[in-house]
Formats: sequence, C-alpha cells, structure tokens
Amino acid sequence: MAFDDVLGNSRTKKKLKKSLQRKRIPNSLLFSGPEGVGKRDVALVLAKAMNCLEKEDDACGVCTSCRAIKSGNFPDVLVIFPEKNVLKIEQMREMKQTVYLKPMVGRKRVFIIDKAEKMNEEAANSVLKILEEPPSFTHIILITHNPYLILPTIKSRCQEVSFSQISKKDIERVLVDRGQDEEKARIIALLVRGNLKQAINLDWEDIQSLREKAWQLFDVLLKGKGVSSFVKDYAFRRRESIEAEFVQVLEILASFCRDLLLIKSTGNQNLLMNPDYESNLRDAEARLSLGQVLDFLVKIDSALYALERNVNVNLLVSSTLANMMGISYA
Ligand SMILES: [Zn+2]
Repeated sequence: MAFDDVLGNSRTKKKLKKSLQRKRIPNSLLFSGPEGVGKRDVALVLAKAMNCLEKEDDACGVCTSCRAIKSGNFPDVLVIFPEKNVLKIEQMREMKQTVYLKPMVGRKRVFIIDKAEKMNEEAANSVLKILEEPPSFTHIILITHNPYLILPTIKSRCQEVSFSQISKKDIERVLVDRGQDEEKARIIALLVRGNLKQAINLDWEDIQSLREKAWQLFDVLLKGKGVSSFVKDYAFRRRESIEAEFVQVLEILASFCRDLLLIKSTGNQNLLMNPDYESNLRDAEARLSLGQVLDFLVKIDSALYALERNVNVNLLVSSTLANMMGISYA
C-alpha cells in the first residue's frame, strides 16, 4: 500500500510526501480526524516510506522492509493498541525500553499509537519526555478521532496532521467497485458521514430498517402526534448507541426533504435519493409547502451541527423532535 492507495485526504498525503522528500518528518506527530478515513493506513505508509529500500517519499510495497512492516514483522515499527479499551502505562513502558535504541534493521524506529485518546493519565504523563525530545531516528505517531480528548500537555508536544471525511462520491465509487448496487451505494454514502470503513461494513438489512424507522418518525412529526414514543425510545439508551443512530436517522430525514424539494421543483422522480419511497413522498409533498420543507431541513442541519459538537445527546433528541413538530401538515 502506497499513499495513493489510501482514499481521500490528498492534501495531507501530499504534505507528508513533501516532508519525506525534505527529510523533515516531525518526530512526534498527532494524526487527528474522523473515524474510518484511513489515518492508520497513512501512518503505516509513512512508517514504510521512512524505511523503504526503493523509495524515499512513498512506500514501494514490495521491498523486504515494506512487506515486513505490512505483516507486522519489522522490529523497528510497532503499532500499539488499547488493551481492554485503555492504553496503559505498561504498554508505554515497553515502548520506552526501545525508544532510545538505534533501529535494528531499518532507518527509522516508528511507534504508532492508535486511539491515543484512550491513554490514561498515568500513561500519558509517562510519555511526555519522549514526545518532547525523541531521538532523531525515532518517530512517534499518535492517532485519534477526537483531538479534544488528548491532554494539552501531549498535544502541545506533537505536530498535528489533520484528516477529513472521505467525500460521498468517493465512498459511492468504492462501494460500486466492490459490487454494491448504485442506488444502495448512494444511500449508504449518505449515511456514514465520510466514514469509509463504516460504509464498507454496513449491513443493507440494518439500513432498510433504519430508513423505515426514519419514515415513521417523519410521518409522526408531520402529523404532529406520536413523537413521544420516539423520545422515550432514545431517552433511556446509552449515549453512544443513540448518537450514531440518531445522526443516521437525521441524515435519512434530510434525504426525504431533499427528495420532496426535487419533486416540488422539477416533478422529476429519476434523481430521487429514495426512489422506493416515491409514493409516500408524493403523498407528503402534496400536503407540504416549499417553506415548510425548507424549514424542516434547516432544523435537521442545526441538530446535526450540534451533535458534531458533542452536546448532550438525550436532551438534543427531545428538543430537536419537539422543535420539528412545529411543522405539520396543512
Ligand atoms: Zn519498499
């Protein structure tokens, strides 16, 4: 795998390549950005490139170093994961034992610490000195989906490299290349918010039931009654399980609204995101004004925006739904 084999984030990859050419890769790095966009893949390509026998600014993928790193058998490149959801001080100690030793077979020693936000305070404090002054032959790459969970003392010692979501178009293309039907690929790409890994792993049956749930919610919101059962359903669940699902439900609701706008403005059904809901959509469209649909869409967008900023999800669910209830059939 080379930089070009990792989808998206071309600016970030270009910057890293430039730094490789100049031999100016920072020794302490923090890769931050949404989940499922290839941060770990890029970290591995970088580790390979720094040790590749054929190339200076990329991984050739075929030399003995590149292959050994890929299979996890290269003694100078180590990937560290949380154990039972925590990065412990013992794991950091193991790293500290070798951090100051010259590479055994490669040019650079590389430590990739995945889910760095799972470092407990003790572990974090134990690596401050290493991050502050690593030897020139050692690179430490911390990876996180949420830089706000990384202690400021850690963050300030690392050069941050940001990653962004994979575009819907790119995700659609990958899914179609993997044999997914185009219409389904479009719907999946819409739901995953740039998370390619999730897009690949989503089960179509689960998506269908989520869409049904979203339509039921849309229907009760428009009718202005029956919303409380949805609120109750969400009120008693754990934050993580609600958050992912509620975001997806909102995305589906937004896609229903966009379809309504399309029908209103063109009457054309060929471009619908949800062609299988056409009769339901036409029924709703006849009863809603353009302004009402737009208003609904604005409310969905502001809820999605708030969710991204980590507000209290349970509260957000009830306030959002109450807010949307204001729009009902004429
Ligand atoms: Zn190579």
